[in-house]
Amino acid sequence: MHTKLGDCARVTVPSRASDGDLRLERTLDIDLCPSFPQTAVFTATYKNLGSSPLQINRVVQVSQAIEPPNQEPKGLWTFQGVSLLWGRDTVFALPASFRSENPMGQVVAREVGGGIPVNDYWNGRVGLATGHIEPEATACWIPIETQSERSARTHLETRPQVALAPGETLTTPRGFVTVHHGDFYEALATYSSMLRAQGVTFLKYSESLYHPIWWTYAFGHNFRPAEVYNSIPKFKELGIEWLILNNRWWDHYGDWMPRPDKFGGEAGFKEMIARLHQDGLKSLPWWMPCGVQVSELPRSGLYNDPVGRPKQPPEVEKMMSATAHVALQHRDWLIQDPQGKLAPISRNLAALCPAYPPARDYLVQLAKRMIVDWKADGFYMDVTFTVPPCYNPAHHHHSPYDSVRQLGDLFRHKPQPRTLNHFQLI
Ligand SMILES: [Zn+2]
Repeated sequence: MHTKLGDCARVTVPSRASDGDLRLERTLDIDLCPSFPQTAVFTATYKNLGSSPLQINRVVQVSQAIEPPNQEPKGLWTFQGVSLLWGRDTVFALPASFRSENPMGQVVAREVGGGIPVNDYWNGRVGLATGHIEPEATACWIPIETQSERSARTHLETRPQVALAPGETLTTPRGFVTVHHGDFYEALATYSSMLRAQGVTFLKYSESLYHPIWWTYAFGHNFRPAEVYNSIPKFKELGIEWLILNNRWWDHYGDWMPRPDKFGGEAGFKEMIARLHQDGLKSLPWWMPCGVQVSELPRSGLYNDPVGRPKQPPEVEKMMSATAHVALQHRDWLIQDPQGKLAPISRNLAALCPAYPPARDYLVQLAKRMIVDWKADGFYMDVTFTVPPCYNPAHHHHSPYDSVRQLGDLFRHKPQPRTLNHFQLI
């Protein structure tokens, strides 16, 4: 059987269930691929054989009990790919009592979300990882729950929330299980190889990312160009080459135009970048591409306590909490929840829908403006992990999760700007 992972042996397990008018068929394909000899890939296709629509809310795959050998003295360790809490470890010894729903590819509370859709467990003798290998962002859950002192249960779950018409089918993401020696490194290397086998390429990182990088945040939220210029001798002394221009060079999240009170508009910002270039310094404007401040969401964009932030002149305070022009002019570009309300992302911002072509084109234009017009050396994308599902009827999405899946497409546009983000900086 030819698959995206090469020629693989396929075991097909058909099954059927019925309950009154409800008749459901499941075809489970298990692929065993020579290129990944320690891995099995599981795909299930459900077909509604009944005569009325069938609502599917939850699908559970690759459910497993993990029971490490009792003689192992060091216990069970885990890698959890979820991005759930600021500062939470991704690698830790699994406590005797532990439970986490592990939502992946989704907006969760504050400044986090997304994640690597892989969980791994190992005990020094053997390891076992579970996840999915879809190359596009997929909203799912990989929960873990300990059940007794040395046992745990985990599975991969999706919540399609769709009504299958009679005769219609639903196919799950391709889940996988892989076994390995050592710690989580081998499992993640296998996951990475499975993505690359499907044509996913990773940006080559720049060696200079290992050099010190300086943030204008050092001067607080309201740095002034003169403060940066005065620090140039110090940057040189410390070997700093890259500068991140962050809070708050822009007027409104969503419009991303240089603040008139600080730069006198676009020309002043270009001038700052040019001046830094003259001194051999590279500039990365901070950017949260999809975020849009709107006054109807409380404290939209004002993510930090005002404590320590000097009181600004009234016109600046007004600018920081105003609704962005892009939201005033193109409200139909924003992501909506099922009730038709704006669906907030981090910092209580509204979000441009990356799966709606006019909004996506606008985002690409913003990137080009920074790189081509302003001659910035890249941008520093922050708090850009995922977006909510989009129910905006104007977008005519095939699925509400089109927005989640297509966020990554934004970064494939040409000319490809040199981008930096958290992951390349770690
Ligand atoms: Zn949309």
